[in-house]
Amino acid sequence: MMKTAMERIGIVGAGMTGATVSSLLRAECADSKLLVLDKGRGVGGRMSTSRCVEAKSSSVDLGAQYISITEAYREKHQRFHNELISAGVLKNLTCEIEGERNQDSSVTHHVAPEGVSSIVKHYLNQSGAELHTSQHVTRVDIKGDKVELMSDSGVSYQCDSVVLTMPVPQILQLQGSIAEILNSKPDVKRNLEDVSYSSRFAAGLFYNPSTNLNYSWAGKYITGNPCVRFVSIENKKRNLTDSELGPSVVVHTSVPFSLEHLEEDKNAIVPTILQHLRDVLPELPEPTEIKGHKWRFSQVHKAYVNSPGCVILNERPLIILAGDGFTHSNMDGCIESAISTTEAMLKVLASKSNI
Ligand code: FAD
Repeated sequence: MMKTAMERIGIVGAGMTGATVSSLLRAECADSKLLVLDKGRGVGGRMSTSRCVEAKSSSVDLGAQYISITEAYREKHQRFHNELISAGVLKNLTCEIEGERNQDSSVTHHVAPEGVSSIVKHYLNQSGAELHTSQHVTRVDIKGDKVELMSDSGVSYQCDSVVLTMPVPQILQLQGSIAEILNSKPDVKRNLEDVSYSSRFAAGLFYNPSTNLNYSWAGKYITGNPCVRFVSIENKKRNLTDSELGPSVVVHTSVPFSLEHLEEDKNAIVPTILQHLRDVLPELPEPTEIKGHKWRFSQVHKAYVNSPGCVILNERPLIILAGDGFTHSNMDGCIESAISTTEAMLKVLASKSNI
């Protein structure tokens, strides 16, 4: 463990990468003050879980659905998997996902019974970080030996070091000294501009407790429909048995459909999604409530060149870029990014304290 003379480390993004970085830094630098900022109202990012307003239904995971652990991940990240499993945050997926592409029998699939955001919450709680939601960081400025993060609500946060974990196109939108640093490093800027993501719409459908959805599968990849790509029966996927809670369903659209309608409003597109869903599952009853969502940056299509895990943008004061854009899009991709971010950070902080 390192003594860091009360460094204040700012982490932008309370998604899987930001939460894991926070927890790893807490373990390594017990004295540091960790500050996590997110523009969302809640935490989780693309591992978010939403509840409906009216119906007493189970919640829906609008982004990440389930966690697939390969042999290679098991070797590298076993301590993370074991911890999540022993804390009850992850459980084995017991139902079928029809059309699941990864048929390798050594791969195990897991679900988060409390919703996928519970994985992120687990690490954030563990870190004890000071968390501020609804803080959309729009400027990153270097002021002497500090980094100043400024939110669109006019609040500024002074930090000794900063980790930015938002999707790469959102890093490129930031204003302030960071834009000048990027302009002074054309190779890094070009590599960042080359990172690309797919887009998707998601819809969460909520039902009354009296509704019974009888499907043999918990999730299904759909082929041959121009709009619907994936459907999940959430309560079945998570093996929830509470009869007081109604079922809920998640629909993801296909990449070509999402690209074609990308500029449309997330709620305006819902009727079209439901129309296509009726072709796929004609017997599905009408939901009592619907929640639409647009993932403009869904999964990484092309990662940062050579998938380095993170990129040090500035050494003094330290600004590190991290997230699945620097590895690949899944839970273990985020863990990989968090580990390399923490290692890079500790190295720079150690060299700083030797001066
Ligand atoms: P994010 O989750 O994007 O976190 C970044 C955070 O930064 C967000 O909370 C955002 O609100 C915040 N932010 C952005 N800009 C700002 C700003 N300017 N100021 C403040 N905060 C900001 N993975 C799996 O393992 N299994 C799956 O089944 C799976 N399915 C998926 C399905 C979909 C539809 C999607 C979208 C993703 C899926 N993934 C899946 C991928 C997984 O969700 C992501 O790889 C992971 O959540 C990325 O985490 P992150 O922390 O790197 O980024």
